[in-house]
Amino acid sequence: MWLPVLALVTIQTQFDGGSLGRIEKVSETHFRLGVKGDKDQDGRNRQANWYYFRVDGASGKELTLDIVDLPGEYNYKANEGAITKDTPPVISYDGSHWRHVESFEYDPAEPKLRLRVKPEGSRFWIAHVAPYTNETLARLRHEIEGNPEFREEKIGKSVGGRDLVLWTIGRGHRKKTVWLMFRQHSWETGSSWAGEGAVRELLANAALRRDVTWKIIPLCDPDGVARGGVRFNLNGYDLNRNWDVVDAVKMPEITAERGAVKRWLDQGGRVDLFLSLHNTETVEYLEGPPAGHRELARRFYELLVERTTFFPSRELSFASETTTAGMKGRMTVIQGLYKDWKLPGFLMEQRISYNGKLKRLPLPEDRMRFGAELARAVHTLVSAP
Ligand SMILES: [Zn+2]
Repeated sequence: MWLPVLALVTIQTQFDGGSLGRIEKVSETHFRLGVKGDKDQDGRNRQANWYYFRVDGASGKELTLDIVDLPGEYNYKANEGAITKDTPPVISYDGSHWRHVESFEYDPAEPKLRLRVKPEGSRFWIAHVAPYTNETLARLRHEIEGNPEFREEKIGKSVGGRDLVLWTIGRGHRKKTVWLMFRQHSWETGSSWAGEGAVRELLANAALRRDVTWKIIPLCDPDGVARGGVRFNLNGYDLNRNWDVVDAVKMPEITAERGAVKRWLDQGGRVDLFLSLHNTETVEYLEGPPAGHRELARRFYELLVERTTFFPSRELSFASETTTAGMKGRMTVIQGLYKDWKLPGFLMEQRISYNGKLKRLPLPEDRMRFGAELARAVHTLVSAP
């Protein structure tokens, strides 16, 4: 057996959800790590915030890891990037338990985020936020698939041929129906952790299923999650912008999801509330439909503030008709659902930075707890007379 006298530090991304752009070795213990970033179908709207990598051979060496290549564009406006002093990454030594990196500095001039890591072991993982991969979802599904209150339908296939699924929790046609949608954007893992928390609560708490049927789209972009993407599908389409476009080839994900809602409505099903859950770096808010449903929106917002760790950075707001006037392919899911069927669609953003209610940077257990709180709050909302 050959044993190296001095192990070299190596950086890997060849695993589910792993991602980095260029890797530059400045010295044996100093690396510059480019964030790969995602661009849309026209090469615009670059968003560079998802990175997830593994370091090996790190034992006993203090490492300097510079996260670079951050600037991007959002809704066609240039920015310095989403990664700042407010968004330290998470670190794990076993690939499943995560905490935030404590020693870091942000240099707005480059811009770059410099991490200083004194490794507690020779191998560790670092990511923008705690990963939630297709495999994580498959483990949840495996755990709950025998439950008679749980049913899965395949509603289509992604560009990359992965199954798109719809989960139903609660048997039969209940009076009220709530739709919950998670992970339209692949970097937003907090959405999935909250989704898992909601699903577990709905299966554990029979009172939540007595008068409400729950339709859940647990993961909208399985290809993006697998490739370590940021916000576009394999063809470059933003899955929360193209709800005014019908194109089953370029964006089969949206076609499948809208088709599932349409089939439900065509069968006489109700949609008492539709919520899509997202993450941002520093803002947190609830946005209601472009028109109508104002009283429902107000009560929803109040319940979330009172009963959950939702900590809004602004008042309740309402979506405009589209995100970019005069341009096709710019409607979010709630804008599209309102245009087509006047549905009460809501979009929630939750920040990954410091949450003043939690009094810390959110971790998976906080998201899961929020998911359970969300399920209970929504149940209270829609089951009110
Ligand atoms: Zn999003």
